[in-house]
Amino acid sequence: RTVYVNGEYQPETTAKISIFDRGFIFADGVYEVTAVIAGKLVDFPGHMARLRRSLFEVELALPHSDEEVLEIHRQLIARNALEEGLIYLQVSRGAADRDFMYPAEDVPPTFVMFTQKKALIDNPVADRGQKIILVEDQRWHRRDIKTVQLLYPVLAKNTARRAGADDAWMVEDGCITEGCSNNAYIVTQEGTLVTRELSTEILSGITRQSVLKCADDLQIRVEERPFTVEEIRQAREAFSTSASGFVNPVVSVDGTAVGDGKPGPVAHRLREVYIRASRAMAI
Ligand code: PLP
Repeated sequence: RTVYVNGEYQPETTAKISIFDRGFIFADGVYEVTAVIAGKLVDFPGHMARLRRSLFEVELALPHSDEEVLEIHRQLIARNALEEGLIYLQVSRGAADRDFMYPAEDVPPTFVMFTQKKALIDNPVADRGQKIILVEDQRWHRRDIKTVQLLYPVLAKNTARRAGADDAWMVEDGCITEGCSNNAYIVTQEGTLVTRELSTEILSGITRQSVLKCADDLQIRVEERPFTVEEIRQAREAFSTSASGFVNPVVSVDGTAVGDGKPGPVAHRLREVYIRASRAMAI
């Protein structure tokens, strides 16, 4: 692969960053993951806007315009002949001798990007559905910022895998916050789509934003509010959304079937409509 590191395109085998990089030492950085389908970027403006917000919240400046960042994405797609997969982008507070205080103004941020080839549309999980376990949400309370500080979700996802599940959903005060790397939804017996409202307790998913718009177009009733563990047990369906998974049904939670234990029609329909809309709007 050809990767991007601080203004240069390099083979992944020789690309380097400093061992003093603050992303590495302090998890002092933010990131984005954007899907590529048919060689085009899905909702680039949404990801760019969220990146700007994350940078602002952690007081980091990226000396590149949105157009320049778009061009780097396009170069990586072209140089790697990427048809379908993901582009990972990370900005950290540069390399300096280890110190909690920000480095001097003249220390530039470290800006890296790379591609990951991956089948996104033909995903077996979309057909079989995900098994979920519930874990306590032990993350910090600025989950609205997409920081590279991902140790808790890493631990939780591995706990889920060891338990024979696909992912973990996190619970706080009896309600679901979100998945380890996705937003969480249920469909009630009345057919209402419920997902937690935006706040500092969850990441504002770019896929969530688009999927809620698709739900609106399909005249599905939506409630943005916290939902309880008990409500999942009563629900007709559950699913998650993310840039890498699109819309993925959930078929069981802690070993108990959700609805009839099969991927549900609302998740299926939203996945179809979301993929069609994303394809049409990709740039
Ligand atoms: N919530 C968390 C904690 C995430 O890490 C992610 C994506 O990585 C999401 C939600 C979904 O966001 P998006 O749809 O922008 O990928």
